[in-house]
Amino acid sequence: MDAGLIPASLCECPVVENRQVGAYRQVSFVAPEIAALAQPGQFMMVRLAGESLDPLLPRPMGVHDVDSDLVKMLVDPVGKGTVALAGAAVGDRLSVLGPLGNGFDLEGGGPAVLVAGGMGAAPLTMLAGALLTRGREVSCLLGFRTRSQTLAAELFQEADIEVLTEDGSAGRQGLACDPLPGLLDGQPGRTKPEIFACGPAAMLAEVARIARQQGVRAQVSVAAHMACGIGSCQGCVVKGSASYLKVCTEGPVFDAKDLEWK
Ligand SMILES: Cc1cc2nc3c(=O)[nH]c(=O)nc-3n(C[C@H](O)[C@H](O)[C@H](O)COP(=O)(O)OP(=O)(O)OC[C@H]3O[C@@H](n4cnc5c(N)ncnc54)[C@H](O)[C@@H]3O)c2cc1C
Repeated sequence: MDAGLIPASLCECPVVENRQVGAYRQVSFVAPEIAALAQPGQFMMVRLAGESLDPLLPRPMGVHDVDSDLVKMLVDPVGKGTVALAGAAVGDRLSVLGPLGNGFDLEGGGPAVLVAGGMGAAPLTMLAGALLTRGREVSCLLGFRTRSQTLAAELFQEADIEVLTEDGSAGRQGLACDPLPGLLDGQPGRTKPEIFACGPAAMLAEVARIARQQGVRAQVSVAAHMACGIGSCQGCVVKGSASYLKVCTEGPVFDAKDLEWK
């Protein structure tokens, strides 16, 4: 795709808030153009503005939420780039290109089940809000390794939430997908829910397997290493059922049936 045709903005955005949410940093910045365009599931390429070239490349960050002119991202500081973003102070400026990629398709009807693993919960907050606004019933399965990594239920106001942890230190012990088959069947005469998922590859593969088995649609948000975010570097390709697909421009949200699962 010609980068010039992408309906996105490149802006220098002042940080107005940086607060702790669970084990993560929620960084809010002023970006009216991005806020006006962003759809649930889209992402941005973000770096600290300024003269430092280290790290040189921006990092892909999901749009966590939008509030008027503000855009929020939830940062898990796992390496150099994300540590820098998590440490952005009020008044610092971020260089942000976005919104990028294809978000979730919201056009379906009926109930929705949102499945998140760890940081995968970040983009699902905005999605839950958009689905609830459309009158859809929303249930969330949020899986984390342990209590300290759980994302506050405040992020999913009004949705029906079940928290699971691998070690049982918060919510039910287990994985995010464990309750999924039970939510999909056993409801005679009721439309089966559509699945929306974001999280680690193994979790998405399990979501895809369950969706196929139950004959329901699953939209999955895929993470991949990414240098440009606009389709040029081709560093983020994944195997689709027919050809390779670029996560940045053809995703990050895909219909699970369009991807090849191991
Ligand atoms: C579409 C999309 C949306 C994302 N949204 C968010 C978000 O909202 N919040 C957030 O904190 N992170 C998000 N990420 C992941 C984030 O971009 C990476 O964690 C970040 O680029 C790592 O850079 P770093 O310099 O901090 O770490 P590095 O030093 O580059 O890497 C640290 C560790 O993370 C692994 N890693 C790096 N990039 C990725 C990746 N893209 N997927 C999986 N593992 C990776 C590396 O293999 C390494 O083990 C998103 C990624 C994508 C593709």
